[in-house]
Amino acid sequence: MQAMATETFIGNMRGPVIRRTDADYDAVRSLYNRMIDKSPVMIARCTDVADLVTAVNFAKQNDLQAAIRGGGHNGPGLGSVDDGLMIDLSMMKGVRVDPTARTVRVGPGCTQGDVDRATHIYGLAVPAGIVSTTGIAGLTLGAAPDTSPARQLTQVGFSNLFPKFCA
Ligand SMILES: Cc1cc2nc3c(=O)[nH]c(=O)nc-3n(C[C@H](O)[C@H](O)[C@H](O)COP(=O)(O)OP(=O)(O)OC[C@H]3O[C@@H](n4cnc5c(N)ncnc54)[C@H](O)[C@@H]3O)c2cc1C
Repeated sequence: MQAMATETFIGNMRGPVIRRTDADYDAVRSLYNRMIDKSPVMIARCTDVADLVTAVNFAKQNDLQAAIRGGGHNGPGLGSVDDGLMIDLSMMKGVRVDPTARTVRVGPGCTQGDVDRATHIYGLAVPAGIVSTTGIAGLTLGAAPDTSPARQLTQVGFSNLFPKFCA
């Protein structure tokens, strides 16, 4: 990876790009499961779709393995990658509630708590995860298989809501 290409990439991003030498590197790369300790070469903290496209293209052009991070709750830590580019969407937290249609459109960095906060003021709720810090993106994309009756109820609840998310 050329130093100039990296500088150009950082210049093209609106959100911050965190490198291993940055003071906040350890805090930003940490995942919910503290048993997983992955060390990406850089973390692209996207603020909008243009940042996301820029980050994906940079990874592709520089043959870097990329991992997308939503809420960072995935058990094996699939939202991060050793020596690759973590594309961190956790700053993309827009939520739009349509109280008439009773739907909500959710940015890829939202957690269950973010969605609850936006919907509850309209007396609405999305029956999805049971922990407020879990990412809506990961929940929407498949979440965790579990055979417990309580979790099966939760799974059925949000499986039916897939089309209403925009993760
Ligand atoms: C405390 C806790 C409570 C949980 N509760 C529930 C529950 O009630 N019901 C349930 O079914 N599951 C539950 N889970 C499991 C959880 O749903 C999954 O771990 C889910 O993958 C977490 O999503 P995330 O966005 O936080 O994770 P991340 O680790 O950020 O992402 C998970 C996966 O999705 C990918 N991804 C994330 N965002 C995107 C995106 N925008 N585009 C493409 N790929 C993306 C990542 O690359 C990664 O492979 C829980 C997990 C924990 C740790």
